[in-house]
Amino acid sequence: MNIRIHRGTHQIGGCVTEYEHNGWRLFVDYGEELPGGLNTGDLQVEGLTHGDLSKSALLITHYHGDHIGSIIKLPKELPIYMGKVGRDIQRVLSNHLKNRNDAHKMMLERLEHVDTFTEGKELEIPNCPFKIMPVTVDHSAFDAYAFKIVADGVSVYHTGDFRLHGFRSGKTPKMLKQYVSEVDYIVCEGTNVSRPEAASKKESKLQTDFETLFKENKGCVVYLSSTNIDRLFALYHAACKAHRTFYVDEYQKEVMNTVVNSGSIWTNSKLFQYEKYKPKVLIPNMNNRNCFFVSDSFKKALSEHGYVLIARANRHFDKLIDQIPGEKKKVLSMWNGYVKEGSEAYNENLAKSLDEDFDYMHTSGHIDMADLREFFRLLHPKGIIPIHTEKPEAFAKEFSDEWRVIVLNDGDSISLISSKRVDAGKLGSSM
Ligand SMILES: [Zn+2]
Ligand SMILES: [Zn+2]
Repeated sequence: MNIRIHRGTHQIGGCVTEYEHNGWRLFVDYGEELPGGLNTGDLQVEGLTHGDLSKSALLITHYHGDHIGSIIKLPKELPIYMGKVGRDIQRVLSNHLKNRNDAHKMMLERLEHVDTFTEGKELEIPNCPFKIMPVTVDHSAFDAYAFKIVADGVSVYHTGDFRLHGFRSGKTPKMLKQYVSEVDYIVCEGTNVSRPEAASKKESKLQTDFETLFKENKGCVVYLSSTNIDRLFALYHAACKAHRTFYVDEYQKEVMNTVVNSGSIWTNSKLFQYEKYKPKVLIPNMNNRNCFFVSDSFKKALSEHGYVLIARANRHFDKLIDQIPGEKKKVLSMWNGYVKEGSEAYNENLAKSLDEDFDYMHTSGHIDMADLREFFRLLHPKGIIPIHTEKPEAFAKEFSDEWRVIVLNDGDSISLISSKRVDAGKLGSSM
């Protein structure tokens, strides 16, 4: 089996990996590059963007734009697979944005031709020589997956984006034992090797901190990614515990309902169920579609009971927040690179909506280096190939005391073999 990383050996966004065996090509992820990062432009890949597609398939790990965003550019004949709930959430998101952004209109159409797989159940693609096991992982996207891929006697665990400090991470060792066991290679995300400051506070600790904040402050406005499902539900339950009313807009409620009604294994957890008091939906203003309806009784309810408002950086929410009486605590609950002036990912609207005075309460959706070491020890790989990182060399330095780390360049192809020898001579550098 050969592996070729078309993009992502030295950047975080837009990873595209190809596994090839016996004329078949199995691709993993086809997303967008991150703004401000490296920009390699549109890829031309035989068997993916053009050429003979009869022996090709694409797996999507999760719905973040840097993993799925570019599938709208791919031919309709190419079979694409992703998790069902992930696809449903992407549909809600794209439906919400379709009138403002043509790419989302195209995404809705493309999703009609995307098939789904089920966690822990081998994905069968007719005549395909790859054995593919989707393994659910904990990430800031819901219904995210890693894959165990086996062909030619070689096994690879392709991690996708993941972490071990989330609510659902406790199940990881058991699932790895059940579905993965040991593997020859790990193709591993290394986002946080260049973000050591993104210390991995546990999601459960963050939730407790929010509960305290909500108890101490009658009015809280929290900015977070609308598809960071675990955080969203954590905030909802924290608000319930603090006896504050939890407000979201119609779109955000639809995202929550999609999860609650999904029937996925995770909804067995109380985290993804509603309590006695469901989230309240902000009412749109029928006379002015650019703002919410703010009545005196609504204002009174906010002042009397206190509230947690889940906001996004746009003028609808800005206007609403201006009309709410009393003190309000604003919280940023996503990566603070978005509001650091001069940062490549700077989001001016978000910075404006937050003003100067806000609390920062967040933890990374990606694994930190200490947890990564524990994770590798569970799978005993013969070789580790870092992707989804800006600093693969630093990654290699971190782990080469215990494992063989193979640093590739975009476009390199190496053959993976089921022994300690890796044929890196053909192409690619090895560390
Ligand atoms: Zn992600
Ligand atoms: Zn990613």
